[in-house]
Amino acid sequence: MAEVNASPLKHFVTAKKKINGIFEQLGAYIKESSSFLEETYKSDELDPVTTEEQVQEVRGYLAKVAGIGEVLARRHMKVVFFGRTSNGKSSVINAMLCDKVLPSGIGHTTNCFLRVEGTDGNESFLLTEGSEERKSIKTVNQLAHALHQDELLDAGSLVCVMWPKAKCALLRDDLVLVDSPGIDVTTELDSWIDKFCLDADVFVLVANSESTLMQTEKFFFHKVNERLSSPNIFILNNRWDASASEPEYMEEVRRQHMDRCSSFLVDELGVVDRAQASDRIFFVSAKEVLQARIQKAQGMPEAGGALAEGFQARMFEFQNFERRFEECISQSAVKTKFEQHTVRAKQISEALRLIMDSVHVATQEQRIHCMETREDRQDRMEFIDKQLDLLSMDCKAKIKKITEEVERQVSNAMAEEIRRLYVLVDDFHMDFHPSPVVLKVYKNELHRHIEEGLGRNMSERCSAEDNQPPLSVPPPPSPEGLKPLLPAPVREQVDKLVPRQCFSLSYDLACDKLCSDFQEDIGFHFSIGWTMLVNRFLGPKNTRLMSSLSLRQVPRPLALTPVSTSMPPFPQGSMTQEELMVSMVTGLASLTSRTSMGIIVVGGVIWKAVGWRLIALSVGMYGLMYVYERLTWTTKAKERAFKRQFVEYASEKLQLIVSYTGSNCSHQVQQELAGSFAGLCQQVDVTRQNLEEEIKELIILIEKENIMFRCSVERTTCTVRFVKEKFTRHQSHYQSAIER
Ligand code: GDP
Repeated sequence: MAEVNASPLKHFVTAKKKINGIFEQLGAYIKESSSFLEETYKSDELDPVTTEEQVQEVRGYLAKVAGIGEVLARRHMKVVFFGRTSNGKSSVINAMLCDKVLPSGIGHTTNCFLRVEGTDGNESFLLTEGSEERKSIKTVNQLAHALHQDELLDAGSLVCVMWPKAKCALLRDDLVLVDSPGIDVTTELDSWIDKFCLDADVFVLVANSESTLMQTEKFFFHKVNERLSSPNIFILNNRWDASASEPEYMEEVRRQHMDRCSSFLVDELGVVDRAQASDRIFFVSAKEVLQARIQKAQGMPEAGGALAEGFQARMFEFQNFERRFEECISQSAVKTKFEQHTVRAKQISEALRLIMDSVHVATQEQRIHCMETREDRQDRMEFIDKQLDLLSMDCKAKIKKITEEVERQVSNAMAEEIRRLYVLVDDFHMDFHPSPVVLKVYKNELHRHIEEGLGRNMSERCSAEDNQPPLSVPPPPSPEGLKPLLPAPVREQVDKLVPRQCFSLSYDLACDKLCSDFQEDIGFHFSIGWTMLVNRFLGPKNTRLMSSLSLRQVPRPLALTPVSTSMPPFPQGSMTQEELMVSMVTGLASLTSRTSMGIIVVGGVIWKAVGWRLIALSVGMYGLMYVYERLTWTTKAKERAFKRQFVEYASEKLQLIVSYTGSNCSHQVQQELAGSFAGLCQQVDVTRQNLEEEIKELIILIEKENIMFRCSVERTTCTVRFVKEKFTRHQSHYQSAIER
């Protein structure tokens, strides 16, 4: 009985509780997985390992599981009572509920379905279809009255009788009992089945044991059997108390009813086999049971009063029916109400597991990719370091070689240019005049001309093509070796960074300073004059010595051009012809005064020896030559002499700075090449730094992916465990319930 603790209905209640708990867990797990996937999908740091479809799919599962959870929470067992009017359907329900819940008896027939359901409150009330209004019913008569109101009498409508669970143990176990109008009064069997029977777990045909099964009753169950596969049908042959009045026929009648009912269930409907049929057919008296239970509830003996003979047997049979019915309905309900949801939940879990597996695989792949990339970057960094060392050594050697070569070539080129300096000086054209002011300007211009000319000529020689080896500067070291080490955007600009052609050297010769001490000598010098003769035979040094000795008193002329104190003093040996003549005359005068007697004697001797004519001729010739040379000593001649002297002077000075210029140029080349190489090295450093940054980021990324990997592994494992354990356990639970 329902009152008994070990009611089979508890199987359903326990199973419902369990499956609800599982769905709650599943919902929480899917929610967690959903937020994990969303986080992963939205993450900016990691490459997406989930797709939007997967995120949406899991969100959909979340909604579905929540929906299923709600449906499951409302699930109950449902039994529908059918039979002809007055067969005692209401009486059977009342007997099961141990109370007069539904009105029974002639005059209480209704066209509507009555659904008796438990409510948590203490008040019973009515709910009609399409309305949420609660109609309070305190007594069964009030219910009967309410049911007979016009608006409730629509055929096939549903009226819910909400009965306090506290009053009835059966209703506490999620059982819903539905009383139907007599099937003999309707033609709308199909709509009844659609509306009230499709979710019924058990059908109870309440037959009248005083007559045989009617065709209308059979017809209805045929229809039910067509719509539902193997419906659970019980046949109650009610009013069996009436058989007590004719005990001699009782067994015979019982056997006949049993045969017919068995034949109906086994042969016609095929819902049970013959061996089980006896467990579905019962001979009861609902009226007696109800009466006995009410009495018992009132504290009176249940068999008290005027009860017919055989009551205990009928009571026992009714209880037997209840037990079989409860077992049947709980097994059936667990299977039909939960199985499809269990299967659906398993499918969802499996789908979720597949998604998490794919996330797991994608994360693993990404992690491996990151680790490979990190190794690659580390290899590359090592390669850069080694390559840079090698290249540095190579470049240093090359730069050294080049600078030496440049020094040699520049020195050669300069020596050659010095030899050809006269050409450069000859090419200089400017108005020449011996006046100091003009001369100063002339010199300045000449310096500039020489500076430019030398610079230009040297540049031309040094920037010559490779097929002129003596004067070409070799190209700087090729940056090809560095190229692979550079960042991609810089790689294209590498040719700009290191000029492949010769770069221009700066030949700052500083001619003006170098020749600032140049002192020209453009005074007239008679070629066979005293000074020249002495100069020719004794050399310029002795001439100067003589001049300084003999002409000590003669004041020195001022330098025509400014003399640089920094430069070595220019020799002051070139006196003008007039000065020399004056000094000679002075010398002769003093000589006359001292040796006049000697000269007269010598002159007399020569006179006598060569004769005066020859002397006169010689003097005349000497005078003519003097006049000629004096006349041809023009400005042009002075310019020529100036240029010649300048070439000699500048050549001498330039010779002094040949090695300096060479080393200067090689230094420039070295600076240039070292600068270019340093620039490239800087770029390589940038590459290196970038790689270091990249490696650091990769390490962080790998760590994050490791975490995510672990998360997805945990979640996947969790899903598998969840699916396997929970549902298998649940399945075995209802499986065992069914087997029992
Ligand atoms: P329903 O129309 O099928 O719901 O039938 P009811 O439950 O209203 O019963 C109709 C009449 O049959 C009532 O007067 C009941 O008292 C009576 N009745 C119901 N069950 C039994 C029974 O087992 N024995 C007898 N003798 N009368 C019964």
